[in-house]
Amino acid sequence: MKKQLTMTAIICISIIFHLPVAAQDALPPQVPIWDGNTVELKLHKLADGVYAIQPSTVETETTKGIPQATSGGFIVGEKGVMIIECFLNKKLYDQEIKLIRSVTDKPILYAVNTSDHGDHCFTNYLLPPATIIIQNDFAKENLAKNFENIKQFMIMLFGKGRGIEEARYRAADITIAKNDKLKVDLGGGKVVELINTGTAQSPADLFVWLPSSKVFWAGNPFIAESPTIPWLFDGYFLEPADNLKRMYDLLPDDAIVIPGHGRITTKAGIKYTIDYVQSLRQQVTAAIQKGQTLEQAKRTITMKEYDKGYVLFNWLHFNFNLPNAYKDISGNKEK
Ligand SMILES: [Zn+2]
Repeated sequence: MKKQLTMTAIICISIIFHLPVAAQDALPPQVPIWDGNTVELKLHKLADGVYAIQPSTVETETTKGIPQATSGGFIVGEKGVMIIECFLNKKLYDQEIKLIRSVTDKPILYAVNTSDHGDHCFTNYLLPPATIIIQNDFAKENLAKNFENIKQFMIMLFGKGRGIEEARYRAADITIAKNDKLKVDLGGGKVVELINTGTAQSPADLFVWLPSSKVFWAGNPFIAESPTIPWLFDGYFLEPADNLKRMYDLLPDDAIVIPGHGRITTKAGIKYTIDYVQSLRQQVTAAIQKGQTLEQAKRTITMKEYDKGYVLFNWLHFNFNLPNAYKDISGNKEK
């Protein structure tokens, strides 16, 4: 009975997220992928008034391939503060606010969510009423329609009893359309660019770029540096492949990059994602041209050269990244 329920839940969630429906395939090797009850957040000063907030484990664990909790941060301008990401649960939100209050008493004017996944937005409901929440268009629409399904999906991957159950929907105040960007002037020369380039992991992605300090919040599209591979599990491949490259190309070589789930890195640090996606694209294109089925492609395109110890490599590569590449490229008849 329990198994039946789990399977039903996965099928429902799979429909929302376009995931494969085989239960064994859909579940990662470890649940929770990381534990929202035990994450300790730390502050990293990047420039005057510019901070990353990251799990304390990112320095030691990112390069070991251990999945990390969400990273975010904040920017302090003359007028007030912009928060980037409102994390998974109240424990993390409280830590985030405490870290902000350790350096500034200014009001939290804006909160930006770079994704509609709960680890980036599920504590919006705890923000002060006056804080203006900013998302991309799709994120707001999807959260409004599917909040409970997204919550169940988050519980499936990040566990029960991690405070996810308590999340309440709070609508964004400002949204950014696809292929559009918004500049927010926080005062004191801090003009933040919020960029909706279209799907780079999911259609809900939003990038945060602070040109004056060359700081880039990459969100889920760039999960982390090597050995981490991207999580293209929302059903899309070709659009992300193009948009990841587009965003990568926009960055100057000396940009400071805060990936969605890993230690602070550089432009060179996120090239691993670009290289993996490009290699997968080439190999799947060749397999389709040879007339291979998806099952044949899965047997031959193992990409062992990119399997350098990331705990979730097999789960992501064989269940999502490769099948989504196959689906998009075979449908697209790419040459
Ligand atoms: Zn995330």
